[in-house]
Amino acid sequence: MIDTRILEITSELAKAENIVIVPHKGPDGDAIGSSLGLMHFLKDKGHNAHVIVPNDYPEFLKWLPGNGEVIIYENEKEKSHELIAEAEIIFTLDFNNLSRCGDLQQPLINSKAVFVMIDHHQEPSDYAHYVYSNAEMSSTCEMVYNFIVKLRAAKKITPAIATCLYTGIMTDTGSFRFSSTSADTHRVVADLIDKGALNSTIHNNVFDTFSENQLQLLGTALKNLRVNYELKTAYISLTQEELQNHHFRKGDTEGFVNYGLSLKDIIFAVIFIEKENEDLVKMSFRSKGDFNVNKFARAHFEGGGHINAAGGKSDLSLKETIQKFNEILPQYREELTS
Ligand code: 5GP
Ligand code: MN
Repeated sequence: MIDTRILEITSELAKAENIVIVPHKGPDGDAIGSSLGLMHFLKDKGHNAHVIVPNDYPEFLKWLPGNGEVIIYENEKEKSHELIAEAEIIFTLDFNNLSRCGDLQQPLINSKAVFVMIDHHQEPSDYAHYVYSNAEMSSTCEMVYNFIVKLRAAKKITPAIATCLYTGIMTDTGSFRFSSTSADTHRVVADLIDKGALNSTIHNNVFDTFSENQLQLLGTALKNLRVNYELKTAYISLTQEELQNHHFRKGDTEGFVNYGLSLKDIIFAVIFIEKENEDLVKMSFRSKGDFNVNKFARAHFEGGGHINAAGGKSDLSLKETIQKFNEILPQYREELTS
């Protein structure tokens, strides 16, 4: 879409007054950064643009420029329904299937708006009129940058836009270290710094805001680490009780899963988190190299994501979920050890 249909989008944009931007449920840095970056860009162009997120997100993202304007669907359903009904264009960012928006899915299905998908997950579904999907991209933020450049509007990237987009690229690439980080990613990031993103301040705002409770929760998580050297796998688990003991708040376990990958020779890391009130176990999967955690999450834990980062869930108890995981793992011996 980005090359062949950009003129059509330009003319759709020229007609549209009201625009809504929606990221996925449980929005992360890339989801919020891309949504707010695009919101600033569209508002600066004179559109009436609103970001509606399905549910709340972690505190470490709430300093982003424009954060105060984000509408949380769970808390403001009526206003969200009105904005969606009025929208002529709806941008869906950082997801490949409307089911990833939770309860926001139905109002979106009911909408008559023109849908534009910008996303870097594999296997995009076909709900959108305009699809800019590329699973090789580091992040949706990098794609929003490309989108703005294709609209010949690179000069319109303000410090606020640069800050939002830099944040999402930084968080989705594990601070520029995942293999999805390309030379182009660095060129984009360099330009964003030129355009006013304060890289050191952004890093500090996102990563150096731990509370004492959170750091101690990390200690508990690391004590629960189990390593299977033969299958190059490490996993961590946290029970609801352990979370409560450390006054868990949304986002507190962000990044914990990556510690498994810091072990020498480990290429597959998992975290299991017991969510008693939702009656499920939430999992995050991370890998290095060719081991495809998207495939693994889809096949066994109703999830998905990317080759090296995916999520999933299980209705079994925490103990049973871990047992199921350990039983499945040997099926992947060849892929894990080749
Ligand atoms: P995280 O482990 O940080 O929650 O998610 C890692 C990646 O997997 C993200 O790109 C996220 O969008 C995706 N992901 C997480 N949970 C799920 C899920 O339940 N289903 C699908 N399809 N993708 C998920
Ligand atoms: Mn992303």
